[in-house]
Amino acid sequence: MYAIAIHGGAGALPAQGLSGERQQQYRESLAAALDAGYAVLERGGSSLESVVAAVRALENDPLFNSGRGAALTREGGAELDAAVMDGSTLRAGAVAAVRHVRNPVDLAQRVMEKSRHVLLVGAGAEEFALEEGFELVPNAYFRTAERQAELELLRGGRSVSELMPSPQGTVGAVALDAAGNLAAATSTGGMANKRPGRVGDSPIIGAGTYAKNGVCAVSATGHGEYFMRLVAAHHIAASVEYRGVSLQAAVHETLHERLRALGGSGGIIAVDAAGRISLDFTTQGMFRGARDSTGMRQIAV
Ligand code: ASP
Repeated sequence: MYAIAIHGGAGALPAQGLSGERQQQYRESLAAALDAGYAVLERGGSSLESVVAAVRALENDPLFNSGRGAALTREGGAELDAAVMDGSTLRAGAVAAVRHVRNPVDLAQRVMEKSRHVLLVGAGAEEFALEEGFELVPNAYFRTAERQAELELLRGGRSVSELMPSPQGTVGAVALDAAGNLAAATSTGGMANKRPGRVGDSPIIGAGTYAKNGVCAVSATGHGEYFMRLVAAHHIAASVEYRGVSLQAAVHETLHERLRALGGSGGIIAVDAAGRISLDFTTQGMFRGARDSTGMRQIAV
């Protein structure tokens, strides 16, 4: 059995709804990323390789809030966060507030594999990227006209859903491979109009990203401050492992009861050791997809 799930962010839908054409674009992008991750599993590759492949595809796609097309800080720059976790070893790698790394998820994996650390931020992360031979790009590479328009709306005190065709659009993937290994990856530009230096839940192991073999792999999207305070991804894994509840029940309780009680909203994708997938959210919508070796394949906006 092998399985993968992806998300492209959870949030409010635009007041006028997503146009048919726009929906189609999102579906195609999600399908391409899902299939890129699934192809790795199909040829016997690891869940870690699979989640990185899916997230990299979404980072390169300007429709989503990660890599190119990332949400902008209140000063108009992009500051990117990403994390990966390998459930078979409990090793993890993450980067935060990087401004010049084209694919932050690749750097997060490199931090895990080649450094003695788990989380590198800002200039130090970029120095590491240079040493590792990563190609750096100008910060403007990440900025799109849509994100600029979004920032201007938010600066003017208006809500993004008045104009924006998309929810926030952080991306993530979770997978179980044929060898039974679980992995998770998440990548984001964070919250639009954030203060420079702000770091959300995505690169915080246990908050927005977590994986443990025999238990589950989790990737979150939504208002990061709340996911951090709940240590949401680890809370789900701990619920499955110690309380013996199903993955679906653990995800549901975390989102609909605990997160909601704090005043937060968002979505979670997760897969357990048997390949059961949970895609859940408290927001109006979540871009998502899932596929497994029984032939199940779904994409939804
Ligand atoms: N969770 C992300 C953050 O707070 C944002 C998102 O998922 O849209 O940085």
